[in-house]
Amino acid sequence: MKDEKFIKDTQTVLQFIQTFCDDKHASQHPKESLNISYREKNLLHVSFHLCSTCKQTFLYSLERLQSCPHEEKPRCRKCSNPCYERSRWKELAQIMRYSGMKLGLVKLKKIFMR
Ligand SMILES: [Zn+2]
Repeated sequence: MKDEKFIKDTQTVLQFIQTFCDDKHASQHPKESLNISYREKNLLHVSFHLCSTCKQTFLYSLERLQSCPHEEKPRCRKCSNPCYERSRWKELAQIMRYSGMKLGLVKLKKIFMR
């Protein structure tokens, strides 16, 4: 996928996970930041404060985005070869449902669902 698309998708995913974590796992998580690269290019810098579970979920999603083989990324639901493990997908679906209601599902739907 294009660099701009990768950047946007990454930021959207992080926003949803952060919203979910803030509300559900509220406490003071340490602030961290991360340089994210895509195809050997350093594309963006993000900062977040997530609990360890949500951080894992984010890193997993990030890895999947980074390794998505499609040039025009299809929605994950429609993918002929979905790369998410079932348990991870369930976790993410839960986050999408929750944050989607708060933030508007539209953006994330574009990435994963249809
Ligand atoms: Zn959390």
